[in-house]
Amino acid sequence: MSNNKPMPVATEISAPFWEGLKARRLLVQQCGGCAQWLFYPRRHCPACLAPDPAWRKVSGQATLYSYTLTRIPTLPDFIDEMPQKLAVVELAEGVRVNTTLVGLEEDQIRIGMPLQPVFAQVDGKGTRLLRFTGLAQDAAALEAAPVVEAVAPAEVPDNRLQVDCQDQAALQALVSEQYSGWSNSLLVDQALIDAFAELSGDDYWIHTDPERARRSSPFGGTIAHGALVQVLQSRLKLALGFEITGFTTQINYGSDRLRFPAPVPAGSRIHARARVKAVELNQRGTQMTLEINIHVVGQERPSVINDLVILYQR
Ligand SMILES: [Zn+2]
Repeated sequence: MSNNKPMPVATEISAPFWEGLKARRLLVQQCGGCAQWLFYPRRHCPACLAPDPAWRKVSGQATLYSYTLTRIPTLPDFIDEMPQKLAVVELAEGVRVNTTLVGLEEDQIRIGMPLQPVFAQVDGKGTRLLRFTGLAQDAAALEAAPVVEAVAPAEVPDNRLQVDCQDQAALQALVSEQYSGWSNSLLVDQALIDAFAELSGDDYWIHTDPERARRSSPFGGTIAHGALVQVLQSRLKLALGFEITGFTTQINYGSDRLRFPAPVPAGSRIHARARVKAVELNQRGTQMTLEINIHVVGQERPSVINDLVILYQR
């Protein structure tokens, strides 16, 4: 879970609702004048204008009135919840609540299906949000805050395999179809993107103008430059299990292949993994091709594929 997700701000009028959720109670207002149920929280009944509706605990029994699956995050911070299952849920009392469905696969969701509330923990301070799930789901199990992907630097083995840059057999043994574990992760925020725009001169609005990008970009917001994400590789500690030794210079010789298959929305965290694709000893020295893939954390599709060629010379 990203730490940048917007959190509810309780007002004097809505505070009882949020306090109720903290205690795993769903409180809804009911008018003392005409008995109408009200949601969202209000000071006056919209039907008869009587003031100060009373807060009542309700069961949370509900049905799905409408929903949508978002393929583009509503805010970059929600990239770890894709697709977002945004729903309008009708409580037994007749009021409708904007919410998110949890614990349901896409093909389990049906308009009109009965639902139960999930008092979802969203931080360490006791804040809970009202979400819904199917009756067959374990609502209590869905309350727990999602496991936060470790953002601490990946463990680099202390006893990394030492491979001499002239040891042909040992070098060939590093070539693998298997990727390493993940590196540490890194936040790519708008400030970093803006700094790169200034440095590179690429200040195209899709990178630098959040307002316009929100309206007009197919990604629903600004995205990082592919070249920025590529160079940020230097700040990601690859969890390769070996160390090349016995050279005097190490040269970045370029890339055999460089692709940017998926965008990195501003506010995303990225991490990388790699594999040794080829090793060749030639007149220039020892040439190693590392396939480095950089992904938005949680995303299957890489944002950068870089077949980086490194030259080791004695
Ligand atoms: Zn009323």
